[in-house]
Amino acid sequence: EYGPAPEAAGDALAWITDQGARFGHFVDGAFTAPGATFETTSPATGEVLAEITQGTAEDVARAVAAARAAQGKWEKLGGPGRARYLYAIARLLQKHSRLFAVLETLDNGKPIREARDIDVPLAQRHFYYHAGCAQLMDDHAPGRVAHGVCGQIVPWNFPLLMLAWKIAPALAMGNTVVLKPAEWTSLTALLFADICRQAGLPKGVVNIVTGDGETGAALVAADVDKIAFTGSTEVGRKIRAATAGQGKALTLELGGKSPYIVFEDADLDSAIEGLVDAIWFNGGQVCCAGSLLLVQEGIAERFHAKLRARMDKLRLGDPLDKSIDVGAIVHPEQCARIAALVEQADGTVYRAAGPVPEGCFYPPTLISDLSPASPLMQEEIFGPVLVSTTFRTPSEAVQLANNTRYGLAATIWSENINVALDIAPKLASGVVWVNGTNMFDAAAPFGGVRESGFGREGGAEGLMAYTRPAGKAKALKRIAP
Ligand code: NAD
Repeated sequence: EYGPAPEAAGDALAWITDQGARFGHFVDGAFTAPGATFETTSPATGEVLAEITQGTAEDVARAVAAARAAQGKWEKLGGPGRARYLYAIARLLQKHSRLFAVLETLDNGKPIREARDIDVPLAQRHFYYHAGCAQLMDDHAPGRVAHGVCGQIVPWNFPLLMLAWKIAPALAMGNTVVLKPAEWTSLTALLFADICRQAGLPKGVVNIVTGDGETGAALVAADVDKIAFTGSTEVGRKIRAATAGQGKALTLELGGKSPYIVFEDADLDSAIEGLVDAIWFNGGQVCCAGSLLLVQEGIAERFHAKLRARMDKLRLGDPLDKSIDVGAIVHPEQCARIAALVEQADGTVYRAAGPVPEGCFYPPTLISDLSPASPLMQEEIFGPVLVSTTFRTPSEAVQLANNTRYGLAATIWSENINVALDIAPKLASGVVWVNGTNMFDAAAPFGGVRESGFGREGGAEGLMAYTRPAGKAKALKRIAP
């Protein structure tokens, strides 16, 4: 109903058909024959896109063995040698960027504008950046070696981008990987496997095993040296318990309830646009979504009125339509979960006025006047739902912001830099953005504190997370003349 014609899905559907629309795993440089499968669907239309193989413990063990066999040679290739492959992957991501973007939008339901302008370019940038790091690695990471084989588990909200965050640094530092995509969104990981083949990546360096949480648990239990997990705090807790005492390195990137703090002196129009990005980007299905709005009391009424007017202009619809702002929710189960949480709200619920298409769509929603004890003030909703409350003083803002079990990201809007810089370090948060939000860069470490997890992805910190100190003999050899 809005603006230009939808982006044609033809090429992406043709790619799926070319692969037989039934996918096996990618192990030791080749696709395996499909086993028992489940369907992956387009949440916007309900259409079945492909059959995906449910990975068994044996499938995982074969992939880990392939990664193990490839690892020594891959590490010995040296940083500059590995960089050539990472550059080749980055260039192929760029060459096939449209295919990746359309496939991601079909499988996940996110607006094509986001997949095209954010997910895919940031994934490319991640490979370029880490190719550069690999080239310099021998100078910059002396005395450190790869962990070995890394098991990597990613969620459905940024399937390709989270894959890039995991695979690029691991490969740069000489690890080989077995990655499990989320069961609702496996397709771009499988296209990525195809790209690895085209790049001539040595077999066994990247392995993709598809499947659900059981497959994930099998990967956690397998003979890997490190587990890198991005997903919910609940599953992160299970993984931490499962790996305790096994000697596996572990990084966890988990959920959040990230505060978005607006002071009276803020540039309100900018703060509103930032908020649209903070909570309605990817339909709020973002780990660092600014889902807890804290507004200074004096401007609360005016700010909410502006916000409601802006919400009414958001366009919900076919994610392949370039003019829409909010796409489909990833899966009917997630849509039902969001609806059930909002039903519990003991506050005032405002839903954006625009039309809501039939099916797996949820309107931008603002909930205010909640009691402080409401679970909605504490828990991640992981949908396009913003909860809001007011504060009087900076110290009250800090108190409310820190009053959750999470600590992933926080945003501050104020024209007074002294106020912003004073409260930033008081926020229990891995990332703090001032007068802006959702700013990511491959060179900037990202990650949480408290129940949002530990470990960083991106930048030097992220690279170090894929190495361990070398054994004594190796370290001594390095400093010998
Ligand atoms: P989820 O935890 O349900 O699933 C994540 C992945 O773990 C999936 O691949 C799933 O198959 C797998 N899994 C499920 N049970 C498992 C088990 N017992 N052992 C091993 N693997 C298992 O999370 P989700 O619903 O896919 O994703 C949403 C969550 O991810 C949100 O909480 C969000 O905040 C978080 N997230 C965090 C970040 C970050 O960087 N901190 C980024 C994106 C998403």
